[in-house]
Amino acid sequence: MKKRTKILATVGPASDSLEMLVNLINAGVNLFRLNFSHGTHEQHLIVLNRIREAMCVTGLIVGVLQDISGPKIRIGELKNDFSLEENDTLIFSSKELVGEQLSSSTYQVSINYPQILKQLNIGDYIYLYDGIIRTKVIEVSETSIKVNVENRGILSSKKGVNFPNTRLGVDVLTQKDKKDIEWGVKNGVDFMAISFVQTAQDMINAREIVKSHGGKQNLIAKIEKFDAVENIDAIIDASDGLMVARGDLGIEVPYYEVPNIQKMLIRKANAASIPVITATQMLLSMTKNERATRAEISDIANAVMDGTDAVMLSEESAIGEHPVLAVETMFETIRETEKLYKYYRYEGYTNKDIEDTISESAVRLACDVDAKGIFAISSSGASVRKLARYKPKKTIYAITHDTQTRGQMSLVWGVIPLMSVEKISLEDIVNNFMKRGLDEGSIKKENAYILTAGDPIGKAGSTNMIRVITCEDMKEF
Ligand code: ATP
Ligand code: MG
Ligand code: MG
Repeated sequence: MKKRTKILATVGPASDSLEMLVNLINAGVNLFRLNFSHGTHEQHLIVLNRIREAMCVTGLIVGVLQDISGPKIRIGELKNDFSLEENDTLIFSSKELVGEQLSSSTYQVSINYPQILKQLNIGDYIYLYDGIIRTKVIEVSETSIKVNVENRGILSSKKGVNFPNTRLGVDVLTQKDKKDIEWGVKNGVDFMAISFVQTAQDMINAREIVKSHGGKQNLIAKIEKFDAVENIDAIIDASDGLMVARGDLGIEVPYYEVPNIQKMLIRKANAASIPVITATQMLLSMTKNERATRAEISDIANAVMDGTDAVMLSEESAIGEHPVLAVETMFETIRETEKLYKYYRYEGYTNKDIEDTISESAVRLACDVDAKGIFAISSSGASVRKLARYKPKKTIYAITHDTQTRGQMSLVWGVIPLMSVEKISLEDIVNNFMKRGLDEGSIKKENAYILTAGDPIGKAGSTNMIRVITCEDMKEF
């Protein structure tokens, strides 16, 4: 196995051609993120079909994560990018307009939730573009507010705006989100990421909508609000995964608290056997530059050591100048860091059910008999996630008959997703993938392996057996 920590790349104009998608998969991408803050349903469908085509071209499996935008406050379109300088004036207008430069030091923008402008007072801070640009309110009127720009930066269309300590007072799932979720179910995405989650109820509501359309997508809670951090245990119970969404989070809480929160979220997600993604600004300088900063490389290494399942690229792959190079940089950093990785993390986990206990035993047994890998036959993927929480050095092969489960396995640390035929006997499944693996060279006759499965086969949450496939047994295949 080349690396165990997964790479999630956001697709955008810089990466949405078939050729780029193929190159990105070959460079190490395991999942793609479609950000529904940008683009139309038609555009996303074209990209989704291309991702599926790229899987055929490369013969590799990747997952698809649909990022549901939520009530993110954004500026509108701009005529041109603004080069903001310190002490420039920016006007937020409550009218619908295309943003533009009005004079040498004055700029005007619109905003998608103009009602929030009424809540602001002189002296309040407003942040733009994941907090990169800081401004302070200097004038308020009925139809607009004026702010003073406190640090220079480039501002482009539709960038996010943060108003710390102001409440939008709208639902976490907007009308647009509900339509987007329907689209995601219809088109069979593997994951949906829910933005600005504050309570477990937000996740429960999202799941209701998914279910009402007949979907069974895995739901990822984006942790980017102070309240989400406070309510994390209940949110984890209601979620299939977490995203440490550091962009908005770093404005909601003091920036210096983000590393500790990241570590806490990863630890809790690991313990609950749900995957966790570390996101935002991981290689931001590579949006323009060919080389990452030392600090960025250390940031990736640190997230890997923490036990994240995946690291994510945003603008680096969506609009950057070097998407493939950014993935290669992540790949090399992960591979090197995993040489010093703390494998076999048994401490601190409680076994809540028989599957938990079986997973721990399977990982220990794999070591004791010096097995080369662990085969986990699973229909929902739950038993595979449970194996992964121990971070075994042995490769975990997830074998499933469900295409969506297979896509979902692409996010789980240390797991190689494989496909099996539905409704055949356990013996036949084992025979099939053994023969295929031996043919491809991914499985070797001289190695022993561990197999976990449920008997009878095909029932979710029924893993009840462990089998040692010794080197002697391997001769039979
Ligand atoms: P979020 O809060 O969901 O992360 P974001 O605006 O920060 O939203 P990212 O996906 O992090 O979006 O991407 C960073 C930037 O890349 C965006 O602000 C946007 O300029 C650009 N981008 C991303 N995806 C697309 C796309 N599909 N089309 C156009 N631009 C995109
Ligand atoms: Mg965000
Ligand atoms: Mg972002």
